[in-house]
Amino acid sequence: MHPSPSASRPFGPPIVIAHRGASGYLPEHTFAAKAYAHALGADYLEQDVVLTRDDVPVVFHDLVLEEVTDVANVFPGRKRDDGHWYVIDLDYAELSQLSVHDRVNPTSGEATYPERFGEHLPLRIRSLAEELTFIHGLNRATGRRAGIYTEVKSPAWHRAAGKDLSPLVLGTLADFGYRTADDDVWLQCFDDAELLRIKGALGCRLRMVQLIGENAWHEAATDYDALRTPAGLARVATYAAGIGPWIPQVVQWPAAGAAPVCTSLVRDAHAEGLAVHPYTFRVDQLPEHAADAAATHRALFELAGVDGLFTDFPDVTLAALGRRS
Ligand code: CA
Repeated sequence: MHPSPSASRPFGPPIVIAHRGASGYLPEHTFAAKAYAHALGADYLEQDVVLTRDDVPVVFHDLVLEEVTDVANVFPGRKRDDGHWYVIDLDYAELSQLSVHDRVNPTSGEATYPERFGEHLPLRIRSLAEELTFIHGLNRATGRRAGIYTEVKSPAWHRAAGKDLSPLVLGTLADFGYRTADDDVWLQCFDDAELLRIKGALGCRLRMVQLIGENAWHEAATDYDALRTPAGLARVATYAAGIGPWIPQVVQWPAAGAAPVCTSLVRDAHAEGLAVHPYTFRVDQLPEHAADAAATHRALFELAGVDGLFTDFPDVTLAALGRRS
């Protein structure tokens, strides 16, 4: 498959973002998943970042621990009345005692993606600083520079809990040399007010991505329907360099066997100078009615003309772009 002509690609060749590492193959956000993603050739390795009780930024997707760790066995007494074990209730030294496994339904123990790794081993939660040290080591040892793609998770939720996540994330990134729009980093967040604050009051110069969800998910105060309009995208372009939409917001298959249909989102975003990096490609959870991995990638890269893709399977996406056999 060949990407669209460069004339329609103001942002250069599409980038491949390893979503939580090569999380299709190894438990998400572990060093194992990051090393494998680096070895497969992913351009960027993703970090989701949340805070511990003692204010250590850690690379972890959820606010709660029970879907991907053995917290229920290690700290049975630390469950809140709502039935959850929260990252923010444990110190980093305590989190370090947990083992990370593939995502399960914590009640039934059933695997979310049954075909994946599935083993239980002492794979640890890592701090953001450890993760960046690890990636710099991989870059040095291999001579291949992978960038980082860091998400500030639920900043309003953290603030309500008395913690300010963004300055701690930005401080750690700066410590590792990620300070300007020329550095090999994208900073992402679903919360538009927080991105405005990061750009304004916090003076951040990194390239930023406005993630776009669905209002029906009720995850943040952000009005995603408004963001997706041309006027909304024009506003996003005042602080961000790109958007990260959900794949069905870019392209959909009306029925099995039907041709894919693009929305106007990529065209509208490009008109505002915004790159488009949708989430998330999964071999084992294709978009509704999509025939297979190849058809999904063709629709995204050739038909819609996206500039990058979050993928649990970086090798499959790289192969679709002709960068791996
Ligand atoms: Ca993320």
